[in-house]
Amino acid sequence: MRKGSVFLTEGIILKGIGGFYYVDTPEGLIECKARGKFRKTVGKPIVGDRVQLEVQPDGTGYLMSIAPRRNSLIRPAVANLDLVVAVASAAPPVTDPFLIDKVTAIAVHKEITPLVVINKTDADAGDELYETYRKSGIEVLRVSARTGEGIDALRERICGKVSAFAGNSGVGKSSVLNRLDSSFGAEVGAISDRIGRGRHTTRHVELHPIEGGGYIADTPGFSSFETEQMDLVLARDLEYAFPEFAPYLGQCRFTGCAHVKEKGCAILAAVENGEIAKTRHESYVKLYESVKDLKEWE
Ligand code: GDP
Ligand code: ZN
Repeated sequence: MRKGSVFLTEGIILKGIGGFYYVDTPEGLIECKARGKFRKTVGKPIVGDRVQLEVQPDGTGYLMSIAPRRNSLIRPAVANLDLVVAVASAAPPVTDPFLIDKVTAIAVHKEITPLVVINKTDADAGDELYETYRKSGIEVLRVSARTGEGIDALRERICGKVSAFAGNSGVGKSSVLNRLDSSFGAEVGAISDRIGRGRHTTRHVELHPIEGGGYIADTPGFSSFETEQMDLVLARDLEYAFPEFAPYLGQCRFTGCAHVKEKGCAILAAVENGEIAKTRHESYVKLYESVKDLKEWE
């Protein structure tokens, strides 16, 4: 790092703690503060923000501006994601598809590419989950953190990208992350610990640089991915969050069909003849009910 002079540079916020922001720049990691005036006009910087900073002679910096966000999640607060990765378990207890569908629907709604990663394929199971997502048009990869199978393909897929990993406790998310990048240091088998002290370590979302470029944000369980994330979404927009519904939209008997139990619904017909997975439609209905409560129809 150049010391002794003031200069401008750019970077990405990796974490923010107690008013300090840690920015990854071509000059290395720089601890920054946001200027008071700046904070009033632009709002709070969040992890993933692309920022311009002014570096002081002592090596610390001031955030000067934030580039417009391509997208952002509310909880965890993270911006400019390329991928939302939903990690699921093929081995018992097999992950409830609804949890996966909630995450992928939020991602699609936010125009972030969803990726489903089915872990524990060494347990010789999980084909049903795999088939569901293969058929849905959502990208799906099969991996085993235990044997290493599929990990290279996953690493290649996330290289150079900013990815948020979500997954319920026990699916093997920490094991997958450690396999992906040895510097990750995620706590494996820390489920019981998370109730106490362990929880503390995952409260702040943080971007971890990965070998070969790109960043991973480890996010706590699926629970933070709630439908409130679908801010401003109207129940009728939910159909677009299920990519495999697209060919059938506009073919229902009634305009404004909710695809829940209407007569002459093209989506329901596609579920009936196996073109759309039953669990995907069940998730749609469940989400539809919760989103409907959230916002009134226009
Ligand atoms: P996390 O709670 O999602 O971070 O899950 P962990 O990485 O802590 O793993 C939970 C449990 O699943 C541990 O007992 C791991 O050993 C086990 N596990 C993780 N990955 C695999 C895998 O690929 N295959 C099998 N059979 N077990 C795994
Ligand atoms: Zn319909």
